[in-house]
Amino acid sequence: MKQFRCGDIITDCPTTFAGTEDEILAAVALHAHHDHGVDEVTPELVSAVRGAMVAA
Ligand SMILES: [Zn+2]
Repeated sequence: MKQFRCGDIITDCPTTFAGTEDEILAAVALHAHHDHGVDEVTPELVSAVRGAMVAA
């Protein structure tokens, strides 16, 4: 299990995620689209999210 805080890469976002890396990345893609207007999950975003994940 991993955890990820969206606020680690998007200032002041309180949303957190937990699960496997793939589950978190899928949830982040939906969240980024709905809440941050991100239309495309770029490799840079994926690596930023992976880099910010911590073991849970
Ligand atoms: Zn967010």
